[in-house]
Amino acid sequence: MTTLPILRLKRGKEDSLDRFHPWVFSGALTRMPDAEHDGIEEGDLVQVAASDGRIIGTGHFQIGSIAVRMLTFDATETVDADFFGRRLADAAALRHTLRLPSETTTAYRLVHGEGDFLPGLVVDVYGATAVMQAHSPGMHFARHAIAEALTKLPDAGIKSVYYKSETTLPYKAHLDPQNDYIVGSYIGDTALENGLQFRVDWLKGQKTGFFVDQRDNRDLVGRYSAGRSVLNMFCYTGGFSVYALAGGARSVVSVDSSAKAISLTDANVELNFPGCDIHKSFAVDAFKYLDSMESGEHDLIILDPPAFAKHRSALHNALQGYRRLNAKAFEKIAHGGILFTFSCSQAVSKEQFRLAVFSAAAQSRRRVRILHQLTQPADHPINIYHPEGEYLKGLVLYVE
Ligand code: SAH
Repeated sequence: MTTLPILRLKRGKEDSLDRFHPWVFSGALTRMPDAEHDGIEEGDLVQVAASDGRIIGTGHFQIGSIAVRMLTFDATETVDADFFGRRLADAAALRHTLRLPSETTTAYRLVHGEGDFLPGLVVDVYGATAVMQAHSPGMHFARHAIAEALTKLPDAGIKSVYYKSETTLPYKAHLDPQNDYIVGSYIGDTALENGLQFRVDWLKGQKTGFFVDQRDNRDLVGRYSAGRSVLNMFCYTGGFSVYALAGGARSVVSVDSSAKAISLTDANVELNFPGCDIHKSFAVDAFKYLDSMESGEHDLIILDPPAFAKHRSALHNALQGYRRLNAKAFEKIAHGGILFTFSCSQAVSKEQFRLAVFSAAAQSRRRVRILHQLTQPADHPINIYHPEGEYLKGLVLYVE
């Protein structure tokens, strides 16, 4: 094994690492290394040692509040192309257990960062294309080894790898992460989810192009939609709308402030239900739409807004935002209506989100019951040592 630089922890700072939490905060190190004195650059592999010199494991170094993202807690394991091959094979083995991909679902998450013991890496698969995002300089430097290993996974059938990290890497001029194919080229953009078809625009779309994390929750919306008048707020690519139509909704309205999102939604509705005349879509602000709509117009409403809190500092405003948004839905939803309400903010806990929805319900003075408590699907696994990985929270409420 090649010798790596060793970063030492302050006394008492090894506890969370001894419990396999994969982040080392800069304040836990005896000293933040720098390129000039220590020859350690962002993205380099480093070993982390306890205050008594015991090696705890190896990770990627970066400048910021998280200084090291741990890749292995085995002091003797080398992090090289084979290492990434093994970790990706483990990730694929779990998806195989989950029957992903299958004949009816070809859109799924293959690598979920810390949840797959690969902090800083996300890979979503759409048919034969993998869309890969690096969230750390270390993963950026490893991108070619990772992309090659992806194409070698026996059952995944990945032919092309599109690298999309322009907006996910911390801004560093020398990284210059251009969004582009790093293996293969364009080979079609239609993927299946539970037998429904979706066009995925990884070139221009948000994140990797599609929110695969709502698959199970979309399925549940489909099961409640028969005969209902559905309102899908923050629709993006129209996932919930397509499931509602498939589930026999009486009518579906999709709303998103982005005109591009509305055209993606319209295209996906047309792809699955050519000539559909019970779907309408509007490119308007969600709050304005809820204010202007008639009370009782909809008896199934979905609220899936973008993360209101990207950081802890924005928590208070985010909770107010969730309360205001949900209050409007409680005010307008029909008697006997079903509200699907979500938060994808990592900084907002399940309890905080529930409290915000509770306050909104109380404000409306309506009788509200919780039917389901939702989270992310199994291809977004939560590393038990990294509870921060549980980011998607949802409630299904029956409103009288
Ligand atoms: N429900 C979607 C994902 C939603 S992503 C799915 O299942 O795939 C969040 C969406 O909210 C984005 O498409 C964004 O354009 C939209 N958005 C953000 N702010 C908004 C606002 N104030 N009003 C309406 N839409 C908004």
